[in-house]
Amino acid sequence: MRLLSEKHDIEYWQYSKQANIVYLSTLASYVVILPLFYLVGNQMIFNINFFTMFITVYVLYLNRKQRYGFASFLFISMVTIVTSMENIAFGMEAGFGLFHLNMSILIVYTNWKDRYKLLGVIIQAAIFIASFFFLELYAPLTTIEPVFKEIFFVMNVLLNITAVAHSAYYYENIAKRNREKLEDIARQDHLTGLPNRLSLNQYLTKSIDKDYKGLGVMMIDIDHFKQINDTHGHLVGDEVLIKIAELLKKSIRGEDLVVRYGGEEFLVIMEMERARFFREKSQKVLELIQSTPIQVGNLNLNVTVSIGAFYNCCSEVLSLEDCIRNADNLLYDAKQAGRNQVIHNQAIEG
Ligand code: GH3
Ligand code: MG
Ligand code: MG
Repeated sequence: MRLLSEKHDIEYWQYSKQANIVYLSTLASYVVILPLFYLVGNQMIFNINFFTMFITVYVLYLNRKQRYGFASFLFISMVTIVTSMENIAFGMEAGFGLFHLNMSILIVYTNWKDRYKLLGVIIQAAIFIASFFFLELYAPLTTIEPVFKEIFFVMNVLLNITAVAHSAYYYENIAKRNREKLEDIARQDHLTGLPNRLSLNQYLTKSIDKDYKGLGVMMIDIDHFKQINDTHGHLVGDEVLIKIAELLKKSIRGEDLVVRYGGEEFLVIMEMERARFFREKSQKVLELIQSTPIQVGNLNLNVTVSIGAFYNCCSEVLSLEDCIRNADNLLYDAKQAGRNQVIHNQAIEG
């Protein structure tokens, strides 16, 4: 479901929202274009543009109805035909040829199949070359005053700069959103919703004060978890992991970090000024899990954990990686000593 809604979100951005702005701005540009064609005195071009204004309204309607592919096909075909006629009518210097570049970019951004995109771009190039040779051989169909040619040229350059920059901006935005979404997915454990090991580095560099005054690291491992899986099945095992993760989240402060470190291992990192507070905290975590029956369906499971709790009095003494390694060693000791207990290091009492 989540993937589906993300796909829809991306589609919405890519086709609907971006195309909508392109179509709306085209519609708005008729306010300038129509009077210009009227002033130039080319009735046919005026009529064609007047007619395509209504096609643009229809294209907007199709886009709203999520018929992105057909809407863009109609729009691109319409602009291509009309601008190539204008090109031949007024000559290359009027700048209508720029729309072939613009349409090629729009084609690349549609939801068409790749081979149709390629065909579309080739057609744009072919029409441009054909118009170019036509105008080499024949004079433009209409003679207009040079000032109108200049106005057309400036208008067309501006319209196309805006359109191309707008498309590039939107697609950069979409790429950025997708990148951020993927990063979020990659950093989160999908089962428990906790940050995973990948996000640990980011947290360590961003959130922990470089000159911290005391840091507690707990490595927590569920006891005999394999037995839970073997006896009740993996799905029950998964539920136990989710519930333990919830208990851990509840027992830490907002600024602390709890990470799903491995299969049934969790890592807690908390800044604490006194070793005694950290010792009390880790004992509380142990007791909370020990005293909370984990309910999965009609099962009530008593789950215990072993904790290796390493306290580092100040940042100069050890690196964070070393603290984690030490907590892991203490966890091993806790397992060896019979499980369901916390083993601390002999931190300097503060
Ligand atoms: P110990 O007390 O020594 O830690 O014993 P244990 O059984 O908890 O440890 P062991 O390393 O032997 O087994 C861990 C098990 O955790 C094995 C693996 O299949 C299971 N596991 C790891 N990840 C998941 C998961 O996401 N879901 C479920 N259901 N099981 C998992
Ligand atoms: Mg275990
Ligand atoms: Mg383990």
